[in-house]
Amino acid sequence: MTMNSETNPPINIRAHQAEGELEVVWAEQESQWIPYRLLRGRCPCAGCVDEMTGERTFDVDQVSDGIHPKEMGFSGNYALKIAWNDGHHTGLFTWKYLREIGDEEESSSD
Ligand SMILES: [Zn+2]
Repeated sequence: MTMNSETNPPINIRAHQAEGELEVVWAEQESQWIPYRLLRGRCPCAGCVDEMTGERTFDVDQVSDGIHPKEMGFSGNYALKIAWNDGHHTGLFTWKYLREIGDEEESSSD
């Protein structure tokens, strides 16, 4: 049984510290480069998005300068877990959500 609604995991994820961007290498499409700042500002956890209203309480403009991941790891086979240098570590970025952020980045810069 295949689950078509699921986004396949990336085949590679590379942190480019000098550029301040995360490179997500997808099997089905070109790799996406996502600035750390955007990624941190799109954190989907309960500390950054109000669970009741769905309203974002932490946004990109609140991200501190020089933000970067201190540690990254997989959560099961469905999400990327990032511990940031600002001490925040509760965000889980599912593959589908990562791709959405990558798409947002692509459409905002041409
Ligand atoms: Zn968060």
